[in-house]
Amino acid sequence: MPVLQMIQRHRTHAVAINGVLVGAGTPVVVQSMTNTDTADVAATAKQVAELWRAGSELVRVTVNTVEAAAAVPRIRDRLATMGVEVPLIGDFHYNGHQLLAGEPACAEALAKYRINPGNVGFGAKRDTQFAQLIEFAVRYGKPVRIGANWGSLDQALAARLMDENAQLAEPWDAGRVLREALIRSALESADRAVALGLPADRIILSCKVSGVQELIAVYRDLARRSSYALHLGLTEAGMGSKGIVASTAALSVLLQEGIGDTIRISLTPEPGASRTAEVVVAQELLQTMGLRAFTPLVTACPGCGRTTSEFFQELAKRVQAHVRERMPEWRVTRPGVESLSLAVMGCIVNGPGESKHANIGISLPGTGEAPAAPVFVDGVKTVTLRGDRMVEEFIDIIENYVAAHYHAG
Ligand code: SF4
Repeated sequence: MPVLQMIQRHRTHAVAINGVLVGAGTPVVVQSMTNTDTADVAATAKQVAELWRAGSELVRVTVNTVEAAAAVPRIRDRLATMGVEVPLIGDFHYNGHQLLAGEPACAEALAKYRINPGNVGFGAKRDTQFAQLIEFAVRYGKPVRIGANWGSLDQALAARLMDENAQLAEPWDAGRVLREALIRSALESADRAVALGLPADRIILSCKVSGVQELIAVYRDLARRSSYALHLGLTEAGMGSKGIVASTAALSVLLQEGIGDTIRISLTPEPGASRTAEVVVAQELLQTMGLRAFTPLVTACPGCGRTTSEFFQELAKRVQAHVRERMPEWRVTRPGVESLSLAVMGCIVNGPGESKHANIGISLPGTGEAPAAPVFVDGVKTVTLRGDRMVEEFIDIIENYVAAHYHAG
């Protein structure tokens, strides 16, 4: 990555979250959040494990009730028995000070607290309750994300800035004032946390909004005005392709400028769909930008009138699914495999050329071509596959290549 693009990430503090480093030029960390009832220990532990297996390096859980807070240490313990070691982040709103006071085992079990300066408390209680939350973080040695959000902006601060703005000879537009309120809410809260004894290298900031251009503007400003590690995400990104495209559009611009130390993709899952989609999108965003590698990616052509059947799409889908399924084991036993490149191509036009660029590529027969699929390994044609076991045979070639080329230690 060009040096200029790395400047922001290098100038942030590094925050250690149970061994996971965020900031100061360390690789951008992927995180996710559960949508189970945290009080349901079994369901939450199961989903945390799924997110971790998909590659989430930090997992956040809602801590909204006494029952949820009491469940947190049990979730942590259950995960340990499952062999899942992922830092848990507690998401607090309104009553976090009471929950941490009432459930010290929760305060201890969490690896990080997330608090929202817009709703830690209202009126005179706001400062007191914010201070209590920070005191718990100091006492238990936990980092804190101070996460301001467009949807729960500190209304008193916003009103004050609106009043100040109205006195200016050339007032800003309302959108700019609200962006400023969001940034000030995060920065002033961080300053207060430092004054209360929380070290700067235990603070992560976020200022989430749901519009792409607004997010880019807010984070550019935030990065310019602070050296705290930054959590990056487009809040309420939405469902399906809209959520993926909007998140990718916003985050890729900022990541390319070196802004953002940890990311979350806030996708609304389809009913019944796995929560892990948000982890896959975050990983693919970082990997396709060349910032990190998580899993072998399949290069595939889009197909066209030359593709003879859906077999070509089916093969690409099964190969990508296979390597994803294998990654939890490969991550441990086959380090380096995440950079393996695969290609599944639909016909002779670009098939052999693209396949030769990949570590392993297959060029399927297009319309009018002989029913044979040459396979290329590291640029050299090694075998031609035919018949109805082509998928299994191509996956065997991938397995054999991985076994021969990647070894732990
Ligand atoms: S490689 Fe062949 S099948 Fe694929 S898009 Fe190009 S011309 Fe079409």
